[in-house]
Amino acid sequence: MAISIEPTTTCNLRCPQCPSGLRQFTRDTGNINIDLNKKILDQVGKQLQHINYYFQGEPFIHPDFLTLVKEARARNIYVITSTNAHFITPEIAEKIVTSGLSEIIVSIDGLTQETYEQYRINGKLEKVITGTKNLIAAKNKMKRPNPVVTFQFLVTKHNEHEIDKLYALGESIGVDEVRLKSVQVYDYETGRDLIPENETCSR
Ligand code: SF4
Repeated sequence: MAISIEPTTTCNLRCPQCPSGLRQFTRDTGNINIDLNKKILDQVGKQLQHINYYFQGEPFIHPDFLTLVKEARARNIYVITSTNAHFITPEIAEKIVTSGLSEIIVSIDGLTQETYEQYRINGKLEKVITGTKNLIAAKNKMKRPNPVVTFQFLVTKHNEHEIDKLYALGESIGVDEVRLKSVQVYDYETGRDLIPENETCSR
């Protein structure tokens, strides 16, 4: 009923607990071929209800990412992606809306550049906020309810004090949902400084 397809292993950021961010894959890397995507959908699309089009890597780096999405949506499959939102220009935002993408998770892991870049190394918070606003403006302009836009906040020791303000920011921008996520620390020895003090937010 559900599968995950990783569009690309490439990313513009250097998040410290992600194989893509660390450039430390122990498996093949690259972009999925659009013909392979179609072949998968031709084989199992009739049974599918849901596809996660993301794993490790920034989906919008794939030059034909929205072609993948359209192939799935043409089969009436619910499609979710997750992004660092650095590539959502006004033009891309309109293309996202017309692709029929069902839901998009935007990683926003800090409310100041200082806290944001503790985990999203090389990232720019301003781009995340602008990209999200572009998306919501495109939805409003085209009068379309989708994609559902979710702010996802990876709770770390650096940003846990910002959670209350996060909800206010989400409301002011007009996202559909704000969600907290616990950080996955592969290497406890090097990742210890990420683990929040609030144990309810700790994996
Ligand atoms: S933005 Fe996502 S894919 Fe890119 S390095 Fe960070 S966690 Fe990995």
